[in-house]
Amino acid sequence: MTDETRAPVTVIGLGLMGQALAAALLRAGHPTTVWNRTTAKADRLVSEGAHLAPTVGDALRASSLTIICVTDYQAMHELLGANDAELDGTTLINLTSGDSTQARKAAEWAKQRGAHYLDGAIMAIPPAIGTADAVILYSGPQQDFENHKSALDALGTATYLGADHGLASLYDVAGLAMMWSVLNAWLQGTALLGTAEIDAATYAPFAQQIAVGVAEWLPGYARQIDSGAFPAEVSALETDVRAMGHLIEESEAVGVNAELPKLIKAMADRAIAAGHGGEQYPVLIEEFGRRSED
Ligand code: NAP
Repeated sequence: MTDETRAPVTVIGLGLMGQALAAALLRAGHPTTVWNRTTAKADRLVSEGAHLAPTVGDALRASSLTIICVTDYQAMHELLGANDAELDGTTLINLTSGDSTQARKAAEWAKQRGAHYLDGAIMAIPPAIGTADAVILYSGPQQDFENHKSALDALGTATYLGADHGLASLYDVAGLAMMWSVLNAWLQGTALLGTAEIDAATYAPFAQQIAVGVAEWLPGYARQIDSGAFPAEVSALETDVRAMGHLIEESEAVGVNAELPKLIKAMADRAIAAGHGGEQYPVLIEEFGRRSED
């Protein structure tokens, strides 16, 4: 495809992420229109060939596809709720972070305004945008995704999740849970080893090996969760809970924070009290799936 045949795209919101998105579209040869509340943030993009629209309405009219990436959904609604923001017939792809309820409500709102709407979540930092490392998740009507796939490919690895507009946000927060859990576990271990003057760099490769090893258990454990049967093939939950006790005792003995392991042990204790001590660790999904009581 030549530059002349690449679809025009509008990017609204030129923070760190929006600038990276617009720059990637320009690099891929898409005629790119931009708009930002603080106009000066468009300067570099304009010098690289972007067209700066004077108003949000002009920006929307410039392309049949608009990508918006601002701080939060409230900012998006403030911007696109304005009278001159004509959305009828346009495709709006919202890469602003938020939760699944906001995404589903935004989809309803966009439908009432006559727009095609995809919600998205960016699982990457700005320097990765435009490379295959930038995984960007999309949810909403598949046809809308397919219609704009070539522009979305310019931003990174475009991954379609399904018709439910909330899916991109749900995957996004699920990913955050994974990321922080791995980091928190590593920090706990690093604090413990620090009491014996083992530095973080010494422990890091060891911790990395454990994290990768545990990650390999996930598909098998997922099969247990999906089938609802948790036979203790390698270890029973009551065995794991005794080890959790050792982690807590050790942490307290050497003066390291034990709040996190205590929280997890309390959940495991409840599962055992409910009769699951002889089953395998993923049976804790029942505790994770329960609404918290505070
Ligand atoms: P940022 O640098 O703080 O930029 C925020 C953008 O939102 C700016 O363009 C800002 O305009 C605009 N904005 C905020 N409130 C507005 C309002 N009321 N009216 C008009 N414009 C408004 O943030 P960012 O890093 O680009 O992040 C943007 C989105 O991408 C967020 O939802 C973030 O969670 C998501 N994200 C970011 C990263 C990352 O690594 N940066 C990674 C994944 C996802 P002004 O320039 O005028 O202030």
